[in-house]
Amino acid sequence: MDLTNYVQKVSLEDFGKPFRHRVVWNRRLRTSGGRFFPHDGHLDFSPRILEEYGEAIFRQVVRHELTHYHLYFENKGYKHGDADFKRLLKEVDGLQYAPPPKNRRLHIYSCRSCGLSFQRQRRIHLDRYRCGSCGGRLQDQANQPQG
Ligand SMILES: [Zn+2]
Ligand SMILES: [Zn+2]
Repeated sequence: MDLTNYVQKVSLEDFGKPFRHRVVWNRRLRTSGGRFFPHDGHLDFSPRILEEYGEAIFRQVVRHELTHYHLYFENKGYKHGDADFKRLLKEVDGLQYAPPPKNRRLHIYSCRSCGLSFQRQRRIHLDRYRCGSCGGRLQDQANQPQG
């Protein structure tokens, strides 16, 4: 994907306004899918969002950053808490929060008696929990990526 062309296209199609600044991939973005830099007007985007969630979700992340961008240059409220920001983000159907990384590791447990398995984000104490179905003892399976 030519990122600059893509952002210019989304800006025209979804905001009806041109995007005139620089845009770069930034793999170090962790908690957000993108970032707007008011001092020079450029945007950063995480390639993770595109790789893991596809173009439709990535486009919503692009809309979020473009919402900051356009409001800033129009001297309107461009920050997350501003009414202008909330209104425009809703209008263009932008994402409010970046989706979480998909490759987060989960803990997989299964029941020794009935074999029921389930997953948790956090490790649990096997001596404190029993199977919700039959009351049997649980065992820890190898950690597996969620996929
Ligand atoms: Zn933001
Ligand atoms: Zn069980």
